[in-house]
Amino acid sequence: MPRNPATPNAQQQGRLLSEIESKQMLAQAGIPVTRARLARTAGEAARISEGLGYPVVLKIVSPDIAHKSDAGGVKVGMDSAAEVHAAFAEIMIAVKERQPEARIEGVAVQKMAPAGTEVIIGMSQDAQFGPVMMFGLGGIFVEVLKDVAFRIVPLEPRDAREMVRETKGFAVLKGVRGQQPADLDALEKLILQVSQFIEKHPEVQELDLNPVFAYPDGCIAVDARIVIAD
Ligand code: ADP
Ligand code: MG
Repeated sequence: MPRNPATPNAQQQGRLLSEIESKQMLAQAGIPVTRARLARTAGEAARISEGLGYPVVLKIVSPDIAHKSDAGGVKVGMDSAAEVHAAFAEIMIAVKERQPEARIEGVAVQKMAPAGTEVIIGMSQDAQFGPVMMFGLGGIFVEVLKDVAFRIVPLEPRDAREMVRETKGFAVLKGVRGQQPADLDALEKLILQVSQFIEKHPEVQELDLNPVFAYPDGCIAVDARIVIAD
C-alpha cells in the first residue's frame, strides 16, 4: 500500500480513529469521502449494502489495524448480498490468520467509487514547523520515488496550486496517452479544505487521505485515517 512518506514509522501515540469516525469528521467539514457504516455481522453488512446499492467495498474495523489491506481486511467490488456474505467471512478468516491478536469491531461497508487516478493527501506534525501537508500521486510515485510536495499549514490557494503541479506525477494528472486530465481545481480545493480542517482541529496529530480518487470531474477520498493527540 502506498504510505505517506512523511510518517514512515508513525509512532502510535495518540488515538487512531477508525475509518468510519475519520470520514464522519471529514464529511462534517464538507470534505468529499465515501461514507462508511459499521456492520458487526455478515447479515448486517448485506442489509447496509442493499441500502447503499452495489457495488460495495468491505473493510475490517479494528483499533489495532492501521493498514487494512496488509491484514487481508479489504474486499472491493461486491455486487450482491451473497458476495457480501462471502467477503465478510473471507475478511474475518484472513485477519484472524494474519493478526490473531487484533480486536475486531466488524467491517465498514461503503459504496465502491469508480476507478480514478490515485493521489494522497497527508498531514503530519513537524517538531519545528508544526502541521505540514503532503501531496503526491499514489503507488510508486510516493512509495518508491518519494515524489511528493510539502507545505506548512495554513496553505494559501497558491500553495495548493503549486503542490499539485510540482511533482513529477503531475504529468499523469495532466493526462497521458489520450486519458482525460484530472480535475485540478477539485484537488486544489480539497487540499485547502484539509488545511482549514487542520486549523480548526488542532487536536488532529496526523491525517491521511490515502487514496483520493481524482476524476476528470471532481475527486473523492476512499480511505481516511486520523490520529488525535492524547
Ligand atoms: P488500507 O488501510 O490498506 O490503506 P484502503 O481503504 O486504502 O485500505 O483500501 C485499499 C485499496 O482499496 C485502496 O487503495 C483503493 O484502491 C481500494 N478502495 C478502498 N475503498 C474503496 C472504495 N470505496 N471504492 C473503490 N476502491 C476502494
Ligand atoms: Mg489506504
